[in-house]
Amino acid sequence: MKIGVDIDNVLSNFNEILLEEFLNHDKKLRNTGIINNDVYITRGMFDWSEEELDEFYYNNIERIAKSLNVLENAPEYIRKLKEEGNEIYIISGRDNGEYSDPYKMTFDWLNKYNIVYDKVILTNAYNSLEKAKICLENDIDIMIDDSIRILIEVDNSGITALLMDTPYNRQENDLKRVHNWKEIYEFITSLKNKKII
Ligand SMILES: [Mg+2]
Repeated sequence: MKIGVDIDNVLSNFNEILLEEFLNHDKKLRNTGIINNDVYITRGMFDWSEEELDEFYYNNIERIAKSLNVLENAPEYIRKLKEEGNEIYIISGRDNGEYSDPYKMTFDWLNKYNIVYDKVILTNAYNSLEKAKICLENDIDIMIDDSIRILIEVDNSGITALLMDTPYNRQENDLKRVHNWKEIYEFITSLKNKKII
């Protein structure tokens, strides 16, 4: 099976670190704290103006992305899936104009955490249709992502979509939701067994 794997919030703890960084910066601004818990961090969670938000985000996102940690057991389960004959396609929306060298940054990060893969493809995260297109072009069987808008397109393309649970995607009830890599591994294995039958 060809497995498509997103990076941020699927392999990395992007959301967690971003929240930490935003909380720290908020203290330096007006120390108002979180004003809305039901939104994605960068949009409306704090009382920052658009200018304050953009200035902080674009000046810091590259440093933040390089500092991310890997999610628990992700490298081990990816290695297991690859050893069992699956192909791992890392498909991330990092080619979005926010990083000076997104491929180098991504290869360095994957190597740092010993994440094995067959191919890395970077798309533009702001284009909802691009990942579905890449999945079709590369005959991806399953795509794991945390973005609802991206996975709906993937699902509509007839590709199995797995939504990694995050605080900002819980309003979605139709996509298959997973919470960790053990669950992802077990789901893929069960799918394989069913296909053989
Ligand atoms: Mg992501």
